[in-house]
Amino acid sequence: MSLPDLPFDPSHCLISGSWCAPIAGQTVTLVDPSDGSDLSQIARGQSADIDAAVQAAQNALTGEWGSKTALERGRILTRIGQLVLEHVDLLAELEARDVGKPLTQARADAIALARYLEFYGGAADKVHGETIPYLDGYTVYTLREPHGVTGHIVPWNYPMQIIGRSVGAALAMGNATVLKPAEEACLTALMFAEITRQAGLPDGALNVVPGLGAEAGAALSAHKGVQHISFTGSVATGALVQQAAGANVIPVTLELGGKSPQLVFEDADLEEALPFLVNAGIQNAGQTCSASSRILVQASRYSEVVAAMSERYKALQVGPAMDDLNVGPLISTRQKEIVTGFLEKGSDLQIAAKGQIAGYAPSSGAYVAPHLLLCPDPNHPLAQQEIFGPVQVVIPFQDEADAIAIANGTDYGLVASIWTQNGARQMRLAKALKSGQIFINNYGAGGGVELPFGGVGKSGHGREKGFEALYGFSTLKTVAAKHG
Ligand code: NAD
Repeated sequence: MSLPDLPFDPSHCLISGSWCAPIAGQTVTLVDPSDGSDLSQIARGQSADIDAAVQAAQNALTGEWGSKTALERGRILTRIGQLVLEHVDLLAELEARDVGKPLTQARADAIALARYLEFYGGAADKVHGETIPYLDGYTVYTLREPHGVTGHIVPWNYPMQIIGRSVGAALAMGNATVLKPAEEACLTALMFAEITRQAGLPDGALNVVPGLGAEAGAALSAHKGVQHISFTGSVATGALVQQAAGANVIPVTLELGGKSPQLVFEDADLEEALPFLVNAGIQNAGQTCSASSRILVQASRYSEVVAAMSERYKALQVGPAMDDLNVGPLISTRQKEIVTGFLEKGSDLQIAAKGQIAGYAPSSGAYVAPHLLLCPDPNHPLAQQEIFGPVQVVIPFQDEADAIAIANGTDYGLVASIWTQNGARQMRLAKALKSGQIFINNYGAGGGVELPFGGVGKSGHGREKGFEALYGFSTLKTVAAKHG
């Protein structure tokens, strides 16, 4: 199936408001993971393209974009959000074909992208400094200012949402941005760039250079003309990006992986919890940084929870993204090999239940059936390492102290949820769990554009989403005036 007509050439970069071929003229092939067919050619940008993009961003800061007021920036972002909403169907189809995400989930991502633009459009003129009482004869105040040029390195699993939360917040604060989307999934990043042009974003405020991580990504993270890097992706690459940025002494926001637990206590409302227990593990075929890949259950209800989750697992249908079943393919056959490798490593674990791959799903697609595994040992590799596939382990615990120790017993700390009716326990656990976000009797709160998000430990540092991101994408200046 060919792609819908696009108002730009997907093998081009966007630099200073114009679509242009990468300087070396090379491309990378995007593959449709639902059937393994070639989807499109995208630019294989190199350091020369990154140089041009950074120069364009610097020019934007000293030109039209840099002269916009906060109110004007906000209006432009709001207009971009409106145009995203008008293109939801196209964006959803591109994301479904490119990422392998079932159409309904892809559509939700497009709507979330619009919501980020609306949120940051509205917030742009509401960020302000403070006055500080100081010595007699002084007036002291602070100013929130943009960093300058911000680099955004984005992975393939949620391109639209991650672009919305990072580029949206950076633009709201008046930065000029250079975006390096993932080489595996890039079409919605390009369509978003085209939408920003149509919405009247001044040239150079957003520049997009697709390409390989080790080329365009590495060039962006080491670039001397960049003042902040936002990276979302794997721990190993995040460490490289931080090192490269460290050489230039610039701040970095790292959104890395997780091994996020849901804790089910014996007084939990299981009916309420069940959809969250399963969906948080299999959404986007488990390729979600905040996927809940560990389900911790109090021993007295372990069998009951496993049985109820198993029923849901057996009903899960896996197939091509455009067929919009419960689960699509993984991003690539490489990712499928990684996930099946984990399943082999976990062959000592009992399989409680599996989902079904539709019989007609092409054998050339990157399909893995969702697996629910019983895992008595919280230190098992599958209970410790991020799998990034539709695999959940169910771990028993005895009491609250045991639950906390197991929940905190990985290198990660991105999201955790607590299922209990006991209010005092909710409060104790919310403090005791090492995690950037805690959910009580829910998981994910429906996405939560407004809710600060980020990790502790190997899940990363810095916060995106919500108002907090605006502080991360700005720097604080203190002005002390002595007037007597
Ligand atoms: P990855 O780290 O290899 O790639 C992410 C991005 O970094 C891509 O754009 C890639 O081109 C770029 N990149 C690769 N090498 C680079 C380098 N040397 N310098 C600069 N940029 C480089 O990640 P992946 O394997 O494609 O994605 C899966 C991983 O990402 C998972 O482990 C997952 O946990 C993590 N992830 C985390 C979040 C989050 O929000 N916390 C979101 C998505 C993915």
